[in-house]
Amino acid sequence: MSFKFPTAMNYNSKMRGRFAPTPSGPLHLGSLVAALASYADIKIRGGEWLLRIEDVDKTRSRKIFEEQILAELERHALYWDGPIVRQSERDGQYQRALDQLQEKSLVYACSCSRRKLQELRCPENSEGELVYPGVCRMSGALTAADEFPSKLSIRFRVQQGTYQFVDEWMGECRGCVADEVGDFVVRRADGCFTYHLAVVVDDHLQGIDRVVRGRDILPLTGRHLLLQRALGYGSPAYVHLPLVLSEDGDKLSKSRSAAALSKGCAIANLCLAVKHLGLDVKKEDFATPAEVVQFAVNNWHSIDRKMVSQK
Ligand code: GLU
Repeated sequence: MSFKFPTAMNYNSKMRGRFAPTPSGPLHLGSLVAALASYADIKIRGGEWLLRIEDVDKTRSRKIFEEQILAELERHALYWDGPIVRQSERDGQYQRALDQLQEKSLVYACSCSRRKLQELRCPENSEGELVYPGVCRMSGALTAADEFPSKLSIRFRVQQGTYQFVDEWMGECRGCVADEVGDFVVRRADGCFTYHLAVVVDDHLQGIDRVVRGRDILPLTGRHLLLQRALGYGSPAYVHLPLVLSEDGDKLSKSRSAAALSKGCAIANLCLAVKHLGLDVKKEDFATPAEVVQFAVNNWHSIDRKMVSQK
């Protein structure tokens, strides 16, 4: 079985893109690249650039980082349209989506701890996640609406079959979520909804047409496509950007305390981001951060994506 996914419908005449940082650390060069690229991609189409703070995981998110991210975006002349959306304020929307999945018997409660899964010697995928072998799915899992006790996680029932989509940077992508991760968690045992459910619900409710983000999220996109399909949503266009790597070849990640941008000059930071996207610039050519941002917008379509490394 193989699914193709329809694209999202946005009834607003303007297209919408978004930047969706997790406030678990300050903005670093990798997140500046994602911000600038998503901005350029939507502004060249005359669209709106929305800002969503992905603080659904309250254990990782800090208000201080949100404040720093907002200040850094402004310092780099990346101004968002409309109100900021915060996932920490949207449990009601996520619960409604979960109810919808429950009505279709597409979720079930799971009592397996990570430790238990390690004892069962579940294989790890390339992201270091354990591939769930379906223990609770098979053992008469709880599925009825009033039967989900707190303290149990809730998993999405993944059907066998492959997914495929065309990523506008990476090209044709295909995979099989059942093999990649198995039935994945949509609400954790501590009651927290997961990023997968939240991002799918938010992209739909915010009418997002184009998702431009780091290549690290490409392996998770199959899950998002399955959830979109199960919830009856269309799928946005996807553009997964080459990652900015640290000197030792690791992904720059906020949680590994990558160098914050705050120390650098905004024009120089933006020029580094533009260069990473494969455009040739010299910081001496610009007088303000806004000029560099406008350069990225004007030249977004001239990037030769095949020439820029796909780490
Ligand atoms: N919140 C994610 C991050 O900060 C981005 C998720 C997305 O763009 O879908 O890395």
